Amino acid sequence: MPPVFLTEESPTYGVVQSVSPLVRRIVAKNPSKFTYHGTGTYIVGDPSGSELAVIDPGPRDDAHLAALLDAIGNKNVSHILVTHTHPDHSPAASSLSEITSAPTYGFGKHPLAATEVSDDLDESQQDDPESRGDTDFVPDVEIGNGDVIVGEGFTFEALHTPGHISNHLCFSLEEESTLFTGDHVMGWSTTVIPAPDGNLSHYLSNLHRLLERTEKTYRPTHGPAIENPQPFVNSLIKHREKRTAQIITALGKKPKTIEQLVKEIYSDVDEGLHKAASGSVYAHLLDLARRGVISAEPDLNVNAEWVVI
Ligand SMILES: [Zn+2]
Repeated sequence: MPPVFLTEESPTYGVVQSVSPLVRRIVAKNPSKFTYHGTGTYIVGDPSGSELAVIDPGPRDDAHLAALLDAIGNKNVSHILVTHTHPDHSPAASSLSEITSAPTYGFGKHPLAATEVSDDLDESQQDDPESRGDTDFVPDVEIGNGDVIVGEGFTFEALHTPGHISNHLCFSLEEESTLFTGDHVMGWSTTVIPAPDGNLSHYLSNLHRLLERTEKTYRPTHGPAIENPQPFVNSLIKHREKRTAQIITALGKKPKTIEQLVKEIYSDVDEGLHKAASGSVYAHLLDLARRGVISAEPDLNVNAEWVVI
């Protein structure tokens, strides 16, 4: 079964929405073909308590920050958690941290290989926010897989989930059996794997890891929550496996460039997304090359012609 994607109504920007007993969400007004209706910033904590955590403060956007501060009110922000360093997730963390004195938590700064994307696929991905990084963000506290973060009434376990980007974290909220999945798993769309930092093998193994976990609800940074997420994760895995098979079949006929492959494989997809798709196809090709299934002529780069070995 192909993934069954979820939709939701466009939210009222700047208005905080209660989505569960411990979780509220405010969506930033940065809708795009990569961010759906915009960045969903989560505020986590018992409304009757005095302490809160914020997940993915979002882009640099004064109105969004003002709405966020309004929703926080006089509560103490104890933790600012950042899933990864894309410009729709982390830039507001520093302002929020300055105002609230809360430390920021993340895997680490923007990976060097991810900045190479803009050089590598420069012209084709110039308008893709996912290909530019927030190189300013440096977490106050570096956290990694299995680290536990405890606040008043909430307990998070961090999961290191490279694939979309190598510094990606998901956060599991123990009290509500909920996984904040960032861009690793989104209900409204598949995620982009911008090579060379984006890594399809890592992405797939981190989807498989989720199948062994028990969270009942996923809350991505973009789009609606995913209830009963296991079948959806399974369908994402199958979807990528199918793409890999399509690429091998297409190359089996004759050697092709990325552009030719995208035209052939994504013929049913809006052309506006072909540029992002070329990044994903490149990720598939690099993965197949690493596994010795195909080779690149004359050199391994975005302009190569790809050949089944
Ligand atoms: Zn991202």
